Amino acid sequence: MNSFNAGEYGSAMSKNASAELISKILYPNDNHVEGKILRLRQQYFLSAASIGDIVQMHLANYGTLENLGEKVAIQLNDTHPTLAIPELMRILLDECGYDWDKSFAICQEVFAYTNHTVMAEALEKWSLDIFKMTLPRIYQIVVEMDRRCRAELEEVFPGDQGKIDYMAPIGNNQVRMANICAYVSHSINGVSKLHSEIIKDSVFNDYYLFKPQAFKNVTNGIAYRRWLLSSNKGLCKLLDETIGDGYRYDAAELAKFNDFAADKQVLDRLEAVKLENKKNFANYLAKSTGQVIDPNSIFDVQVKRMHEYKRQHLNALNIAAQYLYLKENPNADFVPKTYIFGAKAAPGYYMAKQMIRMICKLGQLIDADPVIRQKLRIVFLEEYCVSLSERLMPASEVSEQISLAGTEASGTGNMKFMLNGAITLGTLDGANVEIAAAAGQENEVIFGMLTPEVNNLKAMGYHPGAFILGDDVASAVLNLLERGWNGENFYEVTNNLRTSDPYMVMADFKDYRRAQADIQKLYRDRDTWNRMSLKNIANSGIFSADRSVTDYARDIWNAPFVK
Ligand SMILES: *Cc1c(COP(=O)(O)O)cnc(C)c1O
Repeated sequence: MNSFNAGEYGSAMSKNASAELISKILYPNDNHVEGKILRLRQQYFLSAASIGDIVQMHLANYGTLENLGEKVAIQLNDTHPTLAIPELMRILLDECGYDWDKSFAICQEVFAYTNHTVMAEALEKWSLDIFKMTLPRIYQIVVEMDRRCRAELEEVFPGDQGKIDYMAPIGNNQVRMANICAYVSHSINGVSKLHSEIIKDSVFNDYYLFKPQAFKNVTNGIAYRRWLLSSNKGLCKLLDETIGDGYRYDAAELAKFNDFAADKQVLDRLEAVKLENKKNFANYLAKSTGQVIDPNSIFDVQVKRMHEYKRQHLNALNIAAQYLYLKENPNADFVPKTYIFGAKAAPGYYMAKQMIRMICKLGQLIDADPVIRQKLRIVFLEEYCVSLSERLMPASEVSEQISLAGTEASGTGNMKFMLNGAITLGTLDGANVEIAAAAGQENEVIFGMLTPEVNNLKAMGYHPGAFILGDDVASAVLNLLERGWNGENFYEVTNNLRTSDPYMVMADFKDYRRAQADIQKLYRDRDTWNRMSLKNIANSGIFSADRSVTDYARDIWNAPFVK
């Protein structure tokens, strides 16, 4: 306003624009950091607004912050809101006049932290210069926190400078958000059983030795009323008529559906519901994009962020292998397959975009072949989002969950598919482990290395060439994609797989093909397939977010049930 009143309209406008920028665009990166100052400003803006709101409400209720730790629980959903910690410290120190120890004790009672990834490239670290320039008072508080943390760690690990440097909030001229969270929070949890074990052995191993009692697990869950009650009316009708409507209020009641696993009539009805949902999706796709797909083919679906660790390229390699096989054996007994992809890529993620181009062009190659297109199709959905996913989940039959073991913290897409009766074709990663345990491993198709095998292979020195050399199919597929067609090739993807292959696609390729062949066999036996589908639905109740939130309330927030 001052600039405006002084007639400096340009400067008034640019300040206005710069202020608006704070909440205009949320960074669309996923599992990869971008060290942009605007992002840091956004994080402080949103954290400070939330803390301000919480403090104001609490003061209005109690007139003091003395009991803040008893009445307020703040669950840090990843490290993005970490600045809420030094911001609350600032209010307690500067505005309430508490001393450091008292302020810190309140923060320890209030804050709990949920970790979402162990991949190094995704761990948030801010350059100390940027941090100091952007948030001068917050910087001072973090520096003091670092000094006290180091002193405290020196007591517990005397002389172990390596450990202390690794655990401290500041190191290598960077502010390390995950270390601030781990140091301050009374609780540190992962989002699946496997992931919660992995964080204790890897990124937070030293913090686990420092405060083991803080480490917990809360397996993720999904919005049950969205992903079943509102999206799959056909399945709900079948459930109403078999197990009653109690499941609508309590997801655990889905377990009653287990009683119908050998009921041929119910299994046939389940198949009919799925076919109807597939027809609905096919109609929607035709209307909205003009693409025609066959509802009698297997709907094999991989929808999730585009990322090398999720290995959409492993899926593409198998489709290319099936294409080459059908070229050689056009009359092979092959259950027609529709591969459906959906994914958003971070704008600056070059390899992700090469993977998307490769999948789309492979789809066009198949489409141009009048024989093979009868048996294989690829559909790449544009603008993948929750609304589209709500249409797709009820129509899905194969749930592709093929991340490198140890990289997917939990996954939630896997739970949406399970609830809607799709069979998981997956590695034992994230919540896939608990999905297979709940439904029975015989009701999923599991393949690939286990986490310890991945770690061993890495320790020995992984060379993808060793997995390509003796494998004719792998060699032929890589050659096809490397050479390309119609003047386009996918050398960047294949070269990456031949040389570094950071997510070990080649090491799991052969077993993935075996698993895909198993899917074909199982699908032919309709009763078996329908029973597997039923077992998935019936045992998916624990993946309701109602259960996750109950776990947080009981194990972390100490918040009792309200009548
Ligand atoms: C559930 C969901 C995700 C998460 O999928 P994962 O397979 O767990 O990575 C991503 N995007 C959308 C739109 C979703 O609905």
